[in-house]
Amino acid sequence: MNILILGAGQLARMMSLAGAPLNLNVVAYDVGSKKIVHPLTNEVYPTTLEQAIENADAITAEFEHIPDDVLTQCCNSNKFYPGKQAIKTGGDRTLEKALLDKTAVACAPYQLITEKAHLELAVQTLGKPLVIKTCQAGYDGKGQWRLKSDDQIEQIWAEMADFIASGTEHAPHTIIAEKMIPFDREVSIIGARDKHGHVAIYPLTENEHTEGVLTLSVAGKNNNSQLEQQAITAFTRIANELNYVGVLAIEFFDVQGTLLVNEIAPRVHNSGHWTQQGAHCSQFENHMRAVAGLPLGSTQLKQPTAMINVLGQAQIPTDVLKTADVTSHWYGKSVKPGRKMGHINVSADNLQQLGERLGELAMCLPEQDYPGVLATSKSLL
Ligand code: ATP
Ligand code: MG
Repeated sequence: MNILILGAGQLARMMSLAGAPLNLNVVAYDVGSKKIVHPLTNEVYPTTLEQAIENADAITAEFEHIPDDVLTQCCNSNKFYPGKQAIKTGGDRTLEKALLDKTAVACAPYQLITEKAHLELAVQTLGKPLVIKTCQAGYDGKGQWRLKSDDQIEQIWAEMADFIASGTEHAPHTIIAEKMIPFDREVSIIGARDKHGHVAIYPLTENEHTEGVLTLSVAGKNNNSQLEQQAITAFTRIANELNYVGVLAIEFFDVQGTLLVNEIAPRVHNSGHWTQQGAHCSQFENHMRAVAGLPLGSTQLKQPTAMINVLGQAQIPTDVLKTADVTSHWYGKSVKPGRKMGHINVSADNLQQLGERLGELAMCLPEQDYPGVLATSKSLL
């Protein structure tokens, strides 16, 4: 079977690696260069997008910011999963909040902003501090402001007004203000839904962000069935409403045992990379299976696993491989400060042993480059 993936980054790469043993042949569309490329080598194929769509048995995406004409073209082929509505919703916080309200899934209280009065209203009704986000352009914490005091309003509004003014009638720019949630921790749920509506959901993952970017995830830690159930209910409602096919990720704030949705990602997600070693069937394989119309694989936790992101580093220190049950995942991209270059998965028989192994890894992963490894190790011991 031939699968076309929109986007040619690390997620397409890992989907392609997962699809190969299933006899799924993947090509990627690089949205920047508008070329069809090999998802591992980036070798350019002499194929047009039209031909690639024609050749594909199924089409999917590795990210949500896909040009509208490309998305429409793919959807018109009736081969595109998880569907246009899901992709659009993931790429626009206005649509995302509307979906959450419609499905009665709790999220941070919010106010949409298109003029200054809305910002003042947000300060009055939601209180301070506020997290203010662009609705259409953000990723990895970019396109965000933190409003802590009234004297910041003028400056932040000036920057916001520039962003709003740069929108067009067809691609309006909007902004959302959210109450800053005093969360205990951040968690996410990743699951797959197939073409018949069956779902398979991985255990909750605990995520640590540093300056808005995911740095570390641990699966199977501090979870209880009540918390899992909240996440599963949210997942099922959202996936069913979107008639979703593929892997869907939902990020939450855990506020004293109550989950509030932060974000929805209509794709495989960084906080699910642990599934490559921690689950019987990884998120990448399950996404490929779902879009190809194959049965879903087991999402059960095979072994407690942590994932450490490699950000802006030229290589993964080879000493990490001395620790038992460590796997290195390198994306083959050119290095840039803060860029997601790869990740390290480490597994263990139990959480105590996982803590010990993270402690060992902390010795070759400096805190300034790999924040939180030592602290997470200690929290597990
Ligand atoms: P990504 O898509 O890479 O996850 P993003 O740029 O879309 O990132 P968010 O996930 O919305 O941004 O925010 C990044 C981080 O900022 C969150 O993981 C969280 O740590 C913090 N944050 C966002 N919104 C809030 C909020 N309402 N209250 C408290 N913290 C928040
Ligand atoms: Mg996020």
